[in-house]
Amino acid sequence: MRTRPIPGSSGRVRAVTRFGDPVLHTPCRPVTAFDDRLSRLVEDLFATMYAADGVGLAANQIGVDARVFVYDCPDDEDERHLGHVVNPALVAADDLAVRGPEGCLSLAGLEAGVERYDHAVVEGFDLTGAPVRVEGRGFFARCLQHECDHLDGTVYADHLTGLRRTRLLRRARRAPWQWRPA
Ligand SMILES: [Zn+2]
Repeated sequence: MRTRPIPGSSGRVRAVTRFGDPVLHTPCRPVTAFDDRLSRLVEDLFATMYAADGVGLAANQIGVDARVFVYDCPDDEDERHLGHVVNPALVAADDLAVRGPEGCLSLAGLEAGVERYDHAVVEGFDLTGAPVRVEGRGFFARCLQHECDHLDGTVYADHLTGLRRTRLLRRARRAPWQWRPA
């Protein structure tokens, strides 16, 4: 039997950037070097995601300007999806648009109803530079769309309008990590 190290076991738990930090609101740069630094970044992302009890984490959520995300996320059938994508492109987001509760480690403790497509396909690369294609449905499709958004500088709050947005931002201002509007 081939044994593989548990993702994140050699990673460092990093501070999670909070809503309002400019790095979260700016598109990330594509990765150009598939080197040790990239492997360490993926490890740190896993370590931080697990420490924070999340199901996905993008590089700018630990302050790194690079198009990389990791995930360990169940779908609606409770099947587990585990992996990472470098330079992801959301190549399909379709089927029904479903409004469902969504949270984010960068808006810790908060949640809002966000509309997402029920089916998503992401193409990109793994940390060795090999192409990967990830397909998700239900909650996992939501996760893929959420993480691709992060790398484009979009946070789920940006999808909200009206009362939903006002309510979320009010709660963000009162959160223990205290978002302060610029
Ligand atoms: Zn997030």
